[in-house]
Amino acid sequence: MSSLKMHRWTSSESREFDLLIIGGGITGATLAYESASRGYKTLLLEKGDFGAATSAATGKLIHGGLRYLKKLELGLVRESLRERRILSNIAPNLVIPYPILLPNPGLVERLGLLAYDLLSYDRNRLWDKSRRMPRTSKIQRERLRQAAPEGSAPESALRYFDCMCISPERLTLAFLKSAISAGASVANYMEARKFLIHEKRVHGAVAHDQIRNEEIEIRARCVVNATGPWVQSMLRSSTETSVPTPRVRSEGIYLITRKLSDEMYLFVSEHGHFSFAPWRNHTLIGPTDTPYHGDVSQWKVTEQSIQNFLKVINAAAPWVSLRREDVQFAYGGLRPLTETTDEDTYNASRKSELHDHAAEGVEGLITAAGGKYTTSRAFAGHIFDRVIQKVGKPAKDFKTSDHFLHGCRSSTRKESQDLHRHFDEFAPETIDYVLRHYGSEAAALLTMARTMPEGALPRNADGEILAEALFAVRNEMALGLDDVFFRRTGLGWLGHPGQALLQKVASIVGAELEWTESEKKSQVERVEERYRFA
Ligand SMILES: Cc1cc2nc3c(=O)[nH]c(=O)nc-3n(C[C@H](O)[C@H](O)[C@H](O)COP(=O)(O)OP(=O)(O)OC[C@H]3O[C@@H](n4cnc5c(N)ncnc54)[C@H](O)[C@@H]3O)c2cc1C
Repeated sequence: MSSLKMHRWTSSESREFDLLIIGGGITGATLAYESASRGYKTLLLEKGDFGAATSAATGKLIHGGLRYLKKLELGLVRESLRERRILSNIAPNLVIPYPILLPNPGLVERLGLLAYDLLSYDRNRLWDKSRRMPRTSKIQRERLRQAAPEGSAPESALRYFDCMCISPERLTLAFLKSAISAGASVANYMEARKFLIHEKRVHGAVAHDQIRNEEIEIRARCVVNATGPWVQSMLRSSTETSVPTPRVRSEGIYLITRKLSDEMYLFVSEHGHFSFAPWRNHTLIGPTDTPYHGDVSQWKVTEQSIQNFLKVINAAAPWVSLRREDVQFAYGGLRPLTETTDEDTYNASRKSELHDHAAEGVEGLITAAGGKYTTSRAFAGHIFDRVIQKVGKPAKDFKTSDHFLHGCRSSTRKESQDLHRHFDEFAPETIDYVLRHYGSEAAALLTMARTMPEGALPRNADGEILAEALFAVRNEMALGLDDVFFRRTGLGWLGHPGQALLQKVASIVGAELEWTESEKKSQVERVEERYRFA
């Protein structure tokens, strides 16, 4: 499969669509793919960068949701387990089997994992049989000492499997690329400001293109509001629509530290859970689950929330003695919970919710709030079924579960060997890294690396290379330095990347996007801002 140059839709193109999707997180991205591949003329608008909000806040897990069994949400767990299998089929380079240790399990946990195994009866119906996931097993004492974090000393542990997404940002992008390949139009940095409503019927939206600084009227036969935590504020742009407002939202944060364990290790208590999860040779600790009452747009990770979480971690795992300076980076988001919950956000359901505004007499508008990253592809199918009902146009028969996402393939041994041979001037580890993250687009990236001095020189322990920055701008619609550091690559995730690299990447991106010196400075400042927690 050749590399795709993502094209940004602008006002000079057709402004009439079957479906307009507002919001470019995973809910919008999967829906754009479903809709375009089923033959609907589709436009997706994102006010910032694709996948930059809640979809970038996940614990990177593609999982069934073991803990939802406690609330007997069997349907949600089964759907999540099925989606876990589908995502590991259609994006095998990004979604990988991931062992999890549950220390000192009691009877409830044992029964829960038995049910989890039963509900994932089809987990090994995989296109690539080498990725088989074993059922839950007890770990022998000797092995446990090696697998558990140093100092933890659990009496016993069960090991079960879920999947980890090595880069949710690139998975969201892969859905968007697949949508574009199927004919969808997409634009980042384009905000929907209000709906076009006439006689209680939504027939499009007015958007603001932040790059060209212009207002655009877009007509569509159906509009889906997939704006995550902003669904309410988007609806408030029109007085005629609403959805039940959750009284409280749930904040979740993660801390990134040096590597603390070789396998994911769960801490479960009455009041919640968090884990130590190995990721990119570091450890992800999280999530928290704290009620948030403030304005959605003002939310950010604060120094206070980091300090509070450190106390929780050190109380649950005193042997780890984590200090503030051990935290290399922190990130998080607001869960778009749909239940009108009280303060107990931890036990609120993670179900997705589809609201057809015909219920309050407004036609042509659906609000879709995604509960889990894992289930987004299936959710997109449900949303699209409702879109078909509303628009009435026959849709093509196409199953997104049956096709690799654009660029996502695990290469055969022969393909990998060919790539190593063809690019033999580059380090073998670099080729392996590029294959993992860029799948069938690896050759296109490495070809670009050849045109740059030091283009394929690893920039961090993971093996990330400078050419990815150029690829991000030329092929993947990155329009800001933050897009490059946090969503096209992972260069920004493991703490401050260092001034030299920051400036070097800024020069590459700035030259492509023709930034002035002052624009370049403010782009660098925006990245630096991510490492300050007030
Ligand atoms: C801390 C945390 C951990 C999580 N961990 C996991 C996990 O491990 N596994 C899992 O499966 N799920 C997890 N989830 C849940 C998952 O992240 C969400 O269900 C999912 O990302 C929701 O995606 P979304 O597209 O609906 O929302 P978002 O990703 O928030 O996307 C909405 C988009 O709409 C855009 N937008 C808003 N207003 C406008 C407008 N007016 N015009 C244009 N665009 C607009 C926003 O900029 C945003 O990009 C986690 C969530 C949190 C908060």
